[in-house]
Amino acid sequence: MNIVVQKFGGTSVRNLECQRQVMQKVLRPYREGNKVVVVLSAMCGETNRLLSLAEEWSETPDAAEVDSMVSTGEQISCALFAMLLKQQGVKTRSVLGFQCPMYTNDAFGKARITDIDRASLMDMLQENDILVVAGFQGVTEDGRITTLGRGGSDTSAVALAAALNADVCEIFTDVPGVFTTDPNMCTDARKINRIAYDEMLEMASMGAKVLQIRSVEFAKKYNVTVHVRSTFSNEQGTIVTQEDETMESVLVSGIAYDKDQAQITLVHVQDKPGVSAQIFSPLAEQKILVDMIVQNPSKDNKTDMTFTIPRADVKQTIKTLESMKYEIGYEELTHNLNVSKISIIGVGMRNHSGVASQAFRALADENINILMISTSEIKVTCLIDDKYTELAVRTLHDAFHLDKGEPNGKS
Ligand code: ADP
Ligand code: ASP
Ligand code: MG
Repeated sequence: MNIVVQKFGGTSVRNLECQRQVMQKVLRPYREGNKVVVVLSAMCGETNRLLSLAEEWSETPDAAEVDSMVSTGEQISCALFAMLLKQQGVKTRSVLGFQCPMYTNDAFGKARITDIDRASLMDMLQENDILVVAGFQGVTEDGRITTLGRGGSDTSAVALAAALNADVCEIFTDVPGVFTTDPNMCTDARKINRIAYDEMLEMASMGAKVLQIRSVEFAKKYNVTVHVRSTFSNEQGTIVTQEDETMESVLVSGIAYDKDQAQITLVHVQDKPGVSAQIFSPLAEQKILVDMIVQNPSKDNKTDMTFTIPRADVKQTIKTLESMKYEIGYEELTHNLNVSKISIIGVGMRNHSGVASQAFRALADENINILMISTSEIKVTCLIDDKYTELAVRTLHDAFHLDKGEPNGKS
């Protein structure tokens, strides 16, 4: 049995007309004799609508109940799409997370997939030619509904492709592939034909929401080739795959930005062994992702500690750290919501210096102040005032000649 896995995002399933277009994409591999597993997101805007209901009902909505409610977005799009297919005489059914079952841990709102019942999916595929699986949702071992974090349908699809040994996982979306930067922000952005898992991981973790980061982690771990492409055209998209030599010849592949960030500063922290663990361990236990961390040189045994977290976790972080003010021993906690992270990514950076300084110069020429800097082997990230996000993205895109389809900036 040859199995094709295809995932369609919220814009692609937003109304009947779009779902009819999606159906044409799905019927193609089916007519070629493949079994098809279609993973769908909720209709565009629906997840936000549901989440805002929870906020309206409760100041501190119970995470398990939020998941139970927000997962209905995908349930609706899958049932509707299955109706369309059945009308075409296709043997099909909708499959929710608990019906796969797609098991996860109990980190509600950001659950991780732990296991997929392959045998049960194969049984369903014997009986049906197309399965319409709800993305974004899973179930704990004890039967509670979970969700996988924003953009989680990508991860559902790649995990299913891995579990079912599909050759490729096709991610259909509202842009024709992965671009050198967000094509909706920078009109000069260029489609990348092939991108290495590691580069895509950095792009995704630094804010390029075209793929959820965990989907790329899965793809890399299980060696699933991912094809990101448009629902609304037939053009070839971007292949996310293992690195090869041609990729190394490109110094910078892309620019990512993340506006959902916040900067937290603990002023006058006692500078003594164990203090970092005291600050960051409780945040890690609550699965709060701390990214950039800077500790100033200490003066009179006191230092300032600054770090970034997702904006959605600000309330919880402040609450946690304020409850430990005495143990940690700091004087003041401040936070800044008006920040964004800009990252320059490329595997070619491994063997070349000078990218960071070129980026700093380009930002300085536009008078953009850098608040924090962090680097990895294949990435340079700057935290800036969020009002300059678009300018910074365009400036760096230009500085590294990313609009030209050839190796850039190398000398
Ligand atoms: P879907 O609903 O199909 O999952 P998303 O909105 O999650 O779609 O992701 C697609 C969006 O990602 C695009 O519309 C685009 O604005 C944004 N995006 C950000 N960075 C990039 C990039 N480097 N390449 C392509 N799209 C990007
Ligand atoms: N519907 C979910 C979201 O909006 C999951 C997804 O679209 O991938 O985040
Ligand atoms: Mg998405």
